[in-house]
Parts: sequence; structure tokens; C-alpha cells
Amino acid sequence: MLVVLLGAPGAGKGTQADILTERNGLTHVSSGDLLRMHRQQKTELGQLAQSYMDRGDLVPDDVVIRMVLDKLSEETDGPGVVLDGFPRTAPQAKALDEALGGSGIDVVLHVKVPEDELVRRLSNRYICRGCSRPYTAESMGKACESCGGELYQREDDMPEAVRNRLQVYANQTYPLIDYYEGKGKLVEVNGLQDVDAVTADVMEALAH
Ligand code: AMP
Repeated sequence: MLVVLLGAPGAGKGTQADILTERNGLTHVSSGDLLRMHRQQKTELGQLAQSYMDRGDLVPDDVVIRMVLDKLSEETDGPGVVLDGFPRTAPQAKALDEALGGSGIDVVLHVKVPEDELVRRLSNRYICRGCSRPYTAESMGKACESCGGELYQREDDMPEAVRNRLQVYANQTYPLIDYYEGKGKLVEVNGLQDVDAVTADVMEALAH
């Protein structure tokens, strides 16, 4: 099974992907987490990605496509994959379709959240350096409850970069909603609800 989570930064894609991993055994493939891992390991790709990411711009398509498709080709066993943060542009969506061939995507879940709520969530978001689990500012200074890692505010969750990321989302990623709707793959989920209610809608969408 291949599930794609589409939605603006801060919509809660990562949270729902983790829940799908826990409940349905899907492998969570997050392009943002893969890129942050490359940065931590100071790979060539990580160094290339750094300035784009810190500004809130997209990393060039060719490198992101190669990185994610390589990862997907390793995930052939198990119940499937939940893709979080990829595709984010039309060329990425086309490359994914081509790579998948006949089997294709099962469902694209569009997690919808209004912009003022996204800004509020992102500027209050702290992330574990070890496992990327999200926290709010109140947890700052504590250790991650899952892995004991340090909590930090991402460079791209600072106000200037947040504004840019939302603009980039509107210009480059939002058009994918029409693309997947045209293919009959899209299901809208109200991301403004509490986490359990969003999960219930996600599970319902997967059941059909
Ligand atoms: P995320 O953790 O998904 O919010 O991604 C953090 C940053 O990584 C984004 O702002 C981009 O700079 C970069 N990034 C993640 N996924 C992609 C993608 N599919 N295409 C291009 N850049 C990406």
C-alpha cells in the first residue's frame, strides 16, 4: 500500500504518518527527515540542501526525486509506505507516477489547515533531534519522551522562513491537489480537529 500525505507545513502530516506506522505497520518515509539526516551526517546532498532548507525553499527536484525513489526501492517488504512531504512539485509527482508504473498510489490524503493556524503551530513547534517527534515550546529544555533526544526549534520554523514555506506551498505544492483529484486519488481530511479525530478520518479514508 502507498499512502501520500499532502498538506502545508504544520498540517500534522508527520504526526499522522507516525500513527499509521504504529497502527498499520506502514513505513514512514519523510523527505524532510531524510534531508535532515543527510545534513546531520554532512553528506554532499546534506550540504547542498542546507541553504535551501534554512530559507524555507525547496531543494532541487532532481536530488530529492533520486533520494526518495532510492528509499522507496528499498521498501519492497512489509505492508507498505506512507509518504510525507513528497511529492511537493509537479515534476516530483510525475517522477513518482513513472517509478510506480501500474501499481500506483492507493490514496492521497490532503490534510487541510487554515494558514493562521499553520503559522501558530509552526512558530510554537520544537522537534527532537533524534527521532523528529514534535513538541510545543512548553517542553523546551526537557528530553524527548520517545528517545531521550534534545529538543530544538528548526531554523525553518522561524517566522521569516515560515512565511516563505507557506508561499512555496501555495505556489508549488497546492496545484498537486488538482492533479490527484483528476486521478481520483484525493481524499480531504480536516486537519483542524484534534489528533484523534484526524486519525479517525484518515483510517476511514484508508478503509475505502
Ligand atoms: P519538511 O520537514 O517536510 O517540512 O521539509 C523541510 C524542508 O526540506 C523543506 O522546507 C524543503 O526545504 C526540504 N524538502 C522536504 N521535502 C522536499 C521535497 N519533496 N522537495 C523539495 N524540498 C523538500
